Amino acid sequence: MFRATVLTLFPEMFPGPLGLSLSGDALSRGVWALETKQIREHGLGRHRAVDDTPAGGGPGMVMRVDVLAAVIDAAAPADDPRPRLFMTPRGRPLTQARARELAQGPGVIILCARFEGVDERIIEARALEEISIGDFVLSGGEIAALAVIDACVRLIPGVMGEEASGVEESFEAGLLEYPHYTRPRDFEGRDIPDVLLSGDHAKIAKWRHEQSLALTRARRPDLLAQPSSASRRR
Ligand code: SAH
Repeated sequence: MFRATVLTLFPEMFPGPLGLSLSGDALSRGVWALETKQIREHGLGRHRAVDDTPAGGGPGMVMRVDVLAAVIDAAAPADDPRPRLFMTPRGRPLTQARARELAQGPGVIILCARFEGVDERIIEARALEEISIGDFVLSGGEIAALAVIDACVRLIPGVMGEEASGVEESFEAGLLEYPHYTRPRDFEGRDIPDVLLSGDHAKIAKWRHEQSLALTRARRPDLLAQPSSASRRR
């Protein structure tokens, strides 16, 4: 079973949106599991301090390496096979391919930082994989962790209603997804494209593929440059 353990100063943020809809149903059915660990429980002194001023000066506070090591060691013994992710804008951007790999594994341990971030030494000392969810800065790792877990959980067999809807999606073939339509046929003078009403499945598949390619070329040419997309480009 996929087990997610989140190390955070704000465990109240979980399961949050993951407790609703498909991921929430799957959570209550025991298809996957979620636990949180309060970092402050390993804080130091009477005030359970988890952070300190940055060496070398500068603004903000840095999360202490000894506190983080203690919470990681308590949550995940050395023989825990799950990858340890650290959410950070400096990380490798999360991809659908990585989400799929993670979803097929035993789960994830995710460290969420706050303030300026963490003492650099924790990353090597506890073999953390640095992951970003995009080129912008959040105020903490929790929303990023929710995004990573959501992307993984919906790929676990038995979580999404229709298994098929996972394979044709954006990024799965290295392309963005083609446009969708449903009733009504005419909306304020905008019609559903004729080809989709033709009943000709080969023609529909060809049109969808062309739309995917055109959208990807226009919006995300970087995806076309990646080897994973080459096989699907025809
Ligand atoms: N000073 C840091 C940003 C700190 S933001 C820097 O410039 O890189 C506080 C925390 O929010 C980060 O340590 C990280 O855990 C989380 N976070 C912020 N943006 C993120 C993003 N794009 N992806 C993943 N985690 C992020």
